[in-house]
Amino acid sequence: MIYSDLKTLSRALHEKRISSVELARLFLDRVTRLNPELNAFITVDEEKTIAAAKAADQRLAAGSAGMLTGIPLAEKDLFCAEGWLTTCGSKMLQNFVSPYDAAVVTKLEREAGMVSLGKVNMDEFAMGSSNETSWFGAVKNPWDKTCVPGGSSGGSAAAVAAYLAPVATGTDSGGSIRQPAAFCGLSGIKPTYGIVSRYGMVAFASSLDQGGVIAHSAEDCALVLSAMAGFDERDSTSLERPAEDYSRLLGQPLDGLKIGLPKEFFGEGANAEVVSAVLLVVEEYKRLGAKIVDVALPNSHLSVPVYYVIAPAEASSNLSRFDGLRYGYRAPDCNDLSEAYTKSRAEGFGAEVKRRIMIGTYVLSHGYYDAYYLKAQRVRRLIADDFRKAFRECDVILGPTSPTTAFNIGERTSDLVALYLSDIYTIAVNLAGLPGLSIPSGFDGQGLPIGLQLIGNYFDEARLLNVAHLYQQATDWHTRRPQGF
Ligand code: GLN
Repeated sequence: MIYSDLKTLSRALHEKRISSVELARLFLDRVTRLNPELNAFITVDEEKTIAAAKAADQRLAAGSAGMLTGIPLAEKDLFCAEGWLTTCGSKMLQNFVSPYDAAVVTKLEREAGMVSLGKVNMDEFAMGSSNETSWFGAVKNPWDKTCVPGGSSGGSAAAVAAYLAPVATGTDSGGSIRQPAAFCGLSGIKPTYGIVSRYGMVAFASSLDQGGVIAHSAEDCALVLSAMAGFDERDSTSLERPAEDYSRLLGQPLDGLKIGLPKEFFGEGANAEVVSAVLLVVEEYKRLGAKIVDVALPNSHLSVPVYYVIAPAEASSNLSRFDGLRYGYRAPDCNDLSEAYTKSRAEGFGAEVKRRIMIGTYVLSHGYYDAYYLKAQRVRRLIADDFRKAFRECDVILGPTSPTTAFNIGERTSDLVALYLSDIYTIAVNLAGLPGLSIPSGFDGQGLPIGLQLIGNYFDEARLLNVAHLYQQATDWHTRRPQGF
C-alpha cells in the first residue's frame, strides 16, 4: 500500500479496504524505523496524526470525503500549522508553536482532509540548495546516504523518496522544490507566482516564494496542487482567479506541441551525463508527437547574480521581525533592549542566514540601492522578457533541472558559488514568476537520479503537468525505488 499512487490510495480508502488510521500508522511506523537514517522529519506527533486520521475516517464513513481525504502528507516546516512546532529549520524558531494555520494547511488538511504525518526538515529559512544549513542537521539522500537530497525542501524530497510519506508540500524561491525533486528522483511543481497563498508560510523572499508539491508523479502533483491553489484575500499577492482542476488535461495527446530548447541550458557547466539523459527525453517527446524548436534565453546567465541581490534584500526585511521579543529565540541574560536584539539574532540565526541579512541590508542601503537593488530589478525584467519572447516560439521549455546530480554532503559547504550554481537553471523561472516542474529522467553512472525541467507560460500548469504525465506514461523512471526503502 505504501508504494501506491494517490488515486490508488484514495480508491482503497473510499472502498474501505483500508482506513485512514491504518494508512497513517503504516507510514508512521516507517518514519519511526527509517527517519533516524535520513533526518527528514523534524517533528512527529502521533497523537495529532491519528486524531486527524480519525476525523478523515468519519468523513469517509459519512460520505462527505473528497478525493484526498484520509491521505497522509508531510508538511515542509515553514507552513504554520496550529499547535505544531514550526521551526523553519532554525534555532530562532526551535520552540515556536504556531497559533494558526497557513492557507496551504487549511486547504490540504482542514478542507481536503489530508492527514499530516509531521513537519519535515529544510534549509534554515529556506536558504540553501543542500539542506545542510538546517539547525536540525543535514538530511540524507535515500538514493545514497553520503549525498545531499537537495534543498531547501530536502526533508520533503527525502521523505517522499523513501516512502515515509506519499506526498509532501514544499516551497520554491529559486529552485527549492525542483532541485530536491531532481536529486531524489521525484516529480515537483512550482506553480505560477500568486496561485498558492503565502499566508502563514514563513517568508524568505516574498516576490519569489511560492508553495508547491513534491510527489512521485506529475499526476499526484496535479491532484494535490488542485486542492492547494486558490485565491486568498489574506495574501496581497494572491491572484484572483477561479479554482482550477490541474488534472483536467492529463492524457491529452501532445500532437503539435512545440517544445523549446534553450541553448543556454545545455552549455558548459552542465554535466555530460545530465545533458545526454535530457536529450534522450527530447527523442521520446518527438515520438509522442512534439516538435522541437530552438529558443534563446540570452540573459539567463544573469539570473544567479540578480537573485543574490533581490532574495537577500527581501530576506533582510522579512527577517527583521525575529527580534527575540515577539517570538522565537531570546538570548538569556541581556542587560538592555539593544543587547537583547543583537544577542538573540547573533545566537538564533545560522551563518548562511546572517550572510544574506548582511548582503540584503547592504544592497538596500543609501547609496547602494540604485547600484545594486534597482539594477537587479531591471535585469529581472530582461530575464522575464526573454521568456515572453521564447513563449512566442514554443509552448513549453525543456532543459535540465540542475547541472549535476546530487553531490556529497559537505562537498560544497565551503564553495558557496558552486552551491549557488546548482540553481542556475531554476532561478530564472522564479524571477519571471513562471511555473516550472521537475521530473525524473534517468540515472547517472553512480545510480543517482537525473532531473528534467519543464517550464510553462503563466497559468499553464495543467498543460505542463500533462506534458510530464505523458512522458511518465511512456517511461518508468518515476517508479524506481531507492535500495533499502
Ligand atoms: N537555493 C536557493 C537559495 O539558497 C533557493 C532556495 C529556495 O528556493 N528557497 O536561496
